[in-house]
Amino acid sequence: MNPFERYQTFIVQQSSKEGPISPPIVGSASFAYGDPQTAEDIFAGKVAKPLYARMGNPTVARLESAIAAIDEADGAVATASGMGAIAAVLSAFLQSGDEVVCVGSLFGGTYALLTQTLQRFGIKSRFYKKADDVEITKNTKMLFCESVGNPTTTIVDFAKMQEIAKNYGVLFVVDNTLTPLLFNPFDWGADIVVYSTTKILSGHSQSLGGAVVFKEPREALFDKFSFLKQFYDKLGAKAIMGVIKKRVMRDFGMSMSAYNAYLTLLGLETLALRIQRVIHNAQYVAQELEKSIKVLYNQNSNFFPYGIGQMMSIDLENKNRAFAFLQKSKFLYITANIGDARTLGLHMQSTIYSDFSTEVQEYFGITPGLVRLSIGLENPQAIVQDFLQSLNS
Ligand SMILES: *Cc1c(COP(=O)(O)O)cnc(C)c1O
Repeated sequence: MNPFERYQTFIVQQSSKEGPISPPIVGSASFAYGDPQTAEDIFAGKVAKPLYARMGNPTVARLESAIAAIDEADGAVATASGMGAIAAVLSAFLQSGDEVVCVGSLFGGTYALLTQTLQRFGIKSRFYKKADDVEITKNTKMLFCESVGNPTTTIVDFAKMQEIAKNYGVLFVVDNTLTPLLFNPFDWGADIVVYSTTKILSGHSQSLGGAVVFKEPREALFDKFSFLKQFYDKLGAKAIMGVIKKRVMRDFGMSMSAYNAYLTLLGLETLALRIQRVIHNAQYVAQELEKSIKVLYNQNSNFFPYGIGQMMSIDLENKNRAFAFLQKSKFLYITANIGDARTLGLHMQSTIYSDFSTEVQEYFGITPGLVRLSIGLENPQAIVQDFLQSLNS
C-alpha cells in the first residue's frame, strides 16, 4: 500500500472510534485536577491528564497523535509555529558552546535563528552544501537539514547523513515541512523530525503551527546528551517528549492553541489527496516551463520515489523580469508562504533573503531573478497558460 492509501485508510479515518467525529475544541487554558493526590501525580508525570494548556491540551493532543502516525513515530509535540518547533529542538538540546552542523539549503527563518539569535546564546553553527564535506568536532551536537531545501530544492545525501549521525552520536534533525507522506526521515536515521504545519499539513493558510516528532532515542545519543538518559529512564520511548515539554514548553511557552490544532486537523483530513494532486500539477508545470526558462525542481532523487512536492523555483535572470512575471500573473498570490491549496509565488532576494549578505545569498543560490513558486490545486494547464502569458507579455 502506498503512503497515501495507508494514510487515508488507517490514519485519518481511524482517528475516532467513539464520541464526536469532528475533534472537539477544548477551549480551556487550565484543567481541574479533582483532588490533591491526582494533582501531584499529574505533575510527576504518573497520570496522563492535562496539566495546563502551555504543557498540552486535549485538542492539541489529538493533532499530535495524527502527526506522529504519519511518520510511524512514538509521539509528537505541537508548537505555535514551524519556527517554534525548530526553536524548541535547538533550545531543548543545546547549550552555550555547542555547535550545529547544517547541510544543504535552508529556510531563511532557520538560518536567521541559527546565525543571529542562537549566536547570542553562544551556540555556533556551520554550513555545508554537501554531506560529504561535513566536519564534526567535539562540540558538534546536532546535524540539521531539510528534506527538500527551500527554495532551490537541493536534496542532501541522506545515507551519508545517517552514517555521520551514527558514527558521531550526534542528534540528527530533519525539517520535513515540504514532504509529509513523500519522505519519512526516520527511515534515514533521523532522531527528530520537525514540521511547519502551516504549510501542506494544514494546507489552507488558516492556521500557524508546528510539530516536533520523535521516536525512542537511540542509546548512542546518551553520551552527548546525558539528560536524555534521565528522561529515558522515566519515560522510555517518550523521552524526547519529556525533554521538549520540560525544557522548553514549560519555560518558553511556544505552545499551539486548541483552535489552531482544530483547524490543522481539518486540513489533515485531505492531506493525501492534496499532496498527490499538487505533485501531479507541479511536475506538469515544471516540465512545461523548462521548455523556455530555468526551473529548479529536483525531480530524480532516489530518496523521493513519489516526487518532491509542490515547491519549485524559477530563475528569470533579473529582478525586473521576476517582478513583471509576478505582476502579470492572474493566478499567483504574492506571499511568503508555500504548501497552500492555491498557487503562490515570491521574489526571494527582495523579501525573505533581503536581510542576508550577498555571500549568504550566493551560498543559498538566491540569484537576482529567483522566484519561488508553490503550485496549488488549480487546473495544471490553466496554471501553465497563465505563467507563459505572464513570462511573454
Ligand atoms: C515555513 C517554514 C518554516 C517555518 O514555519 P512557520 O510555521 O512559518 O513558523 C520552517 N521550515 C520550512 C522548510 C518552512 O517552509
